[in-house]
Parts: sequence; C-alpha cells; structure tokens
Amino acid sequence: MTPRREIFPHVIEMNYQARRRLGCCVYLVFDGPEWMLIDIGFEDTAEEIVELVRQMDFPLSSCRYLVATHADVDHIQGLKRAKELLPSAVVVGHPETARTLQRGDRVATYAEISAQGISIDLPNIRIEQTIDEGSTLKLGGLTLDVWHTPGHTVGQLSFRMGNLLFCADNIYRDGCVGNIDAHHGSDLPDFIRSLERIRDSDVEWLLPSHGPVFRKRNEHLQKTIDRLDQYQHMADFGTCAVDWPLLDEWDEELIRGFDASKG
Ligand SMILES: [Zn+2]
Repeated sequence: MTPRREIFPHVIEMNYQARRRLGCCVYLVFDGPEWMLIDIGFEDTAEEIVELVRQMDFPLSSCRYLVATHADVDHIQGLKRAKELLPSAVVVGHPETARTLQRGDRVATYAEISAQGISIDLPNIRIEQTIDEGSTLKLGGLTLDVWHTPGHTVGQLSFRMGNLLFCADNIYRDGCVGNIDAHHGSDLPDFIRSLERIRDSDVEWLLPSHGPVFRKRNEHLQKTIDRLDQYQHMADFGTCAVDWPLLDEWDEELIRGFDASKG
C-alpha cells in the first residue's frame, strides 16, 4: 500500500499525492472506505489517477461520487473513462454543466479554440445527478455543502467542508482567476459576487482547481475583486464589460466638437 499523503484530514490531492503535476487539481475526499473525487482532469491521466487511488487501498467499489466543478475539458475530459473504471460512482454537477456536456458544446468547454488551432476530444459525458446551491454531498460522516459560484462559467460549483472550500477556478494563490471569456459564458458581475461570497465566508483554506492550496486572506481576495471591478469598465474585456466610460465622455465631446487645443 502506498502511504496516503493527506493535505487535511479526509482530503488527498492527487498531484500532491503523486508529487508531480498530473493536470488540474483532483481532490479525493474520504471517510472510512467511502470516497469521492472532485474533478478528474484529462482522459490520459484518468487511469493513472484511479490506479494511484487503488494503491492507497481505497476500494474502487466504494467511490460514491465523481464531481464536475464545471464543464471545462481540462477538468472533465477523463470522466467517461473514470466512470467506466468506477461504475459505482454517481457523476454529479450543476444543471448548466449537464446541459453543456449533453449538447457536446465544444466551444463552451474549450475543446475547440479554432482561432488557436486547438481541437481536442470531448467524450460523451452524462451528468447522472444534478446538484446546485443548497445541495449537500454526504460521504460517511462528512457533509459537503454545494455553493453555486458562477462567473468564470455559468455552472461552476464550489464545495464547503468545514473550514475548507474547494473553490474551483474562482481564485488561485497568485490572485489570478479562471479565464474570463464571453464564449465561455463568463460574467463579471457574477464573478465578483462569487468572490465576495468567498471573502465574506469564514472558511480558512481555499483548495483551487489549479496550483497550490492556500490560506484565505481577505486582502488577497479584495485585490482580485478590485481588479475584476476595473475589468467591468474596460474595452479590453469586450462583451464581458458592463460599460465603457470613454464612450460617455466621447458623447459629450461630440456635442462640443473637436478642439485640437485640448487634445
Ligand atoms: Zn480550470
């Protein structure tokens, strides 16, 4: 048996477990023999991850849930293969994630970014049980509260367990956030609300979907919120911006007429 490298009681993260980078963060939450995975990553690492779990002596038949935090291909591409290896697990995600995957939306999931020549496989993945704000996932004596935290994408979920928040692509340790992109259904006001909710909560640790786990600090979150607040008023963010104050200034200047002396 391979020793279990718990990062917190009842929590193993598979990149930390493997001591190398496999892909997105894959959290194994367990109580007694029962366990679940939050995200699985790309298909080419799914078997390896399940094998690492087996080597830690978790019965494969005791996997209760395979969770999709959202529908991005780097988080969910391996779900089909994982479900084949773990047939007892129920694949869960937000209704919006279920819809995106059901229609095989290659653009919204980032399987297809044609302008950059990116085109990868998006297997047929079925969310078997939808979960949303207020749902809970039970695992042995543990309870995970489901938070709907849209912004990066419409259906993104976070999961609270005690003082831990599995915060998906809401925020990373360096203050970056998950990609803001109109084709992905990103919404800046929603994103800010999700970050404010995390800031105002009493969780102590953030367990993101990319990069290291880190302690929640309100000034860190505030810096990111302030940055996204600026994005709301910048042309740089195209149709994700809510307004562009320069155009209001221009309206006034159009009435006055161009004055080279004030240029
Ligand atoms: Zn991601």
